[in-house]
Amino acid sequence: MENCIFCKIINKEIPSYSVYEDEDIYAFLDITQTTKGHTLVIPKKHITDIFDYDDELAAVVFSKVPKIARSMEKAFPDMQGLNMVNNNKEMAYQSVFHSHIHLIPRYTKKDDFALTFKDNGKKYTSEMMTKIAKSIQEEIE
Ligand code: 5GP
Ligand code: ZN
Repeated sequence: MENCIFCKIINKEIPSYSVYEDEDIYAFLDITQTTKGHTLVIPKKHITDIFDYDDELAAVVFSKVPKIARSMEKAFPDMQGLNMVNNNKEMAYQSVFHSHIHLIPRYTKKDDFALTFKDNGKKYTSEMMTKIAKSIQEEIE
């Protein structure tokens, strides 16, 4: 897609540090390197976000993530874990609107990646939880 920075990276119009490439996906180092080895995995087909995948493209793209993760684990013996992050839409911190999965190696609790999940469980009754789950369930195609 015109004016998409990641499409330009796929087409080699903009240089990148390649990690893996095949006919379906491209994986390359994120320029910010939040932690050493921070990698982005993108479909070669321009789609905006998670809401854009059909089952087939999702299967193709996401099935290739574990082998890239394992290669990072082998490449960095000091790696203790890995966060997989996928931001969708501006509200959720997406800044490049070509779908991508961040693979962020974790080395120590004090490295430069942080993620907070607040526990709001006590605010939800069992009835509320059932209703919420059902409202999603009813929309699954
Ligand atoms: P988002 O905020 O959309 O989840 O992530 C977009 C990511 O793309 C950011 O982490 C940012 O560092 C990365 N990024 C933006 N422009 C470029 C670029 O030109 N080259 C590379 N390698 N990464 C980029
Ligand atoms: Zn694109």
